[in-house]
Amino acid sequence: MRNVTVLCLLCGTLTLGILSALLYVHLHHDHVSNWQKKTQAPASIWKLDKKLQQQAIHSAGQIPRSRTMSSLYQSDGSKPILNENFNYSDPEFLHGILLYGLNTIISKSLGNQRDVPDTRDKMCLKKRYPARLPTASIVICFHNEEFNTLFRTVSSVMTLTPHQILEEVILVDDMSEFDDLKEKLDYPLEMFRGKIKVIRTTKREGLIRARLIGAARASGDVLVFLDSHCEVNRVWLEPLLSAIAKDRKMVVCPMVDSIDHLTLNYYPSPIVRGAFNWHLQFVWDTVFSYEMDGPEGPTTPIRSPAMSGGIFAISRHYFNEIGQYDKDMNLWGAENLELSLRIWMCGGQLFILPCSRVGHVDRHIVQNVTQVLKALRYNNLRLVHVWLDEYKEQFFLQRPDLKSIRYGNISERVELRRRLGCKSFQWYLDTVFPELEPSLEMK
Ligand code: UDP
Ligand code: MN
Repeated sequence: MRNVTVLCLLCGTLTLGILSALLYVHLHHDHVSNWQKKTQAPASIWKLDKKLQQQAIHSAGQIPRSRTMSSLYQSDGSKPILNENFNYSDPEFLHGILLYGLNTIISKSLGNQRDVPDTRDKMCLKKRYPARLPTASIVICFHNEEFNTLFRTVSSVMTLTPHQILEEVILVDDMSEFDDLKEKLDYPLEMFRGKIKVIRTTKREGLIRARLIGAARASGDVLVFLDSHCEVNRVWLEPLLSAIAKDRKMVVCPMVDSIDHLTLNYYPSPIVRGAFNWHLQFVWDTVFSYEMDGPEGPTTPIRSPAMSGGIFAISRHYFNEIGQYDKDMNLWGAENLELSLRIWMCGGQLFILPCSRVGHVDRHIVQNVTQVLKALRYNNLRLVHVWLDEYKEQFFLQRPDLKSIRYGNISERVELRRRLGCKSFQWYLDTVFPELEPSLEMK
């Protein structure tokens, strides 16, 4: 009997393994073909005529992984469908990809720390920043992150940030399930003693509430949020702090360089700004060279309608003043667009600073997709009903299926908008993001 059970378990595990592998290959293939479609498209989707614009938007797929870089812009168009340098039947390789969304064999071999190429334009090297800058609390939330990737995030911050501007690094473990992220993490972190706080949530909060938990414990002048699979580049923090020191309502993002999830190679990002479509999918939009013709050239701060995800810096007091995040949003997604709209519509500004560079691993997560999509849908609806005014119809034209879906109580957020005296979404479209045109049906 036991043998039969074991046999059944083995068969089950094997089938599950094969199914997972097939799922990964399928999703990866989809992702890459989408990416290939996009590389053939003109640089900016806003320059396309309406019909093509719709096609470009539709080809972006349902999960907006384009919050990260690789899916749109990486290198020269030669990104392989299945990289022949990797053995996809190697259980360790496959296990790493399925569990963490990246190549753990290479990540382990890179270890705790490495040098990454300095991707800044030469003109950035000539920039000087004030000796006295605000201090920063770096908040890094993680859920089931690969150990070495997380560790490299922390050690790159510790190595490349002058200690007088680094108040602390706050790690928020959002109920990870892996042993190596528990006590085993505490010991190596000892080497950064004094600067690191580890907070562990008692239930899975999702990245939005996890960031709020981290922010509530911070004491630096500026909050800097990073993902747990980043590597910061040289002089990454000074440009961000310096911009906020000049204007406390300025929210700034570094240029997000791309770390390939298979090779873990670090690639420079072209100069881009953050945008989105009527599906509320985040997209990167190319900035043309003539837009940087001014005296600051390629170091010019880029005015950005939206931020990509969780890599940005904001004055801590200003973050509290404008209502932090919507704490009733779940798990993952839409918080980046909600905050972007709130910043612009309620008197702040959002810029990307090309001289600040942070690498981000473009993970390919295939787990809990249904759960994530459900949260994303819920969060999007909360955003739509609080911020989009009459333009919510544009969203529902794309997603008529969501019209009668529940989105919880938004009265606090509506009240926040009123209290802050925020401008209309029409103002945002006219002033910040005129390229986002309503579709013909509404006109
Ligand atoms: N994260 C978290 N709890 C969650 C989901 C995500 O703490 O329930 C963390 C995750 O480990 C990562 C950050 O939030 O450090 C952003 O998540 P992700 O990288 O998936 O988002 P994206 O890169 O797409 O913005
Ligand atoms: Mn990420």
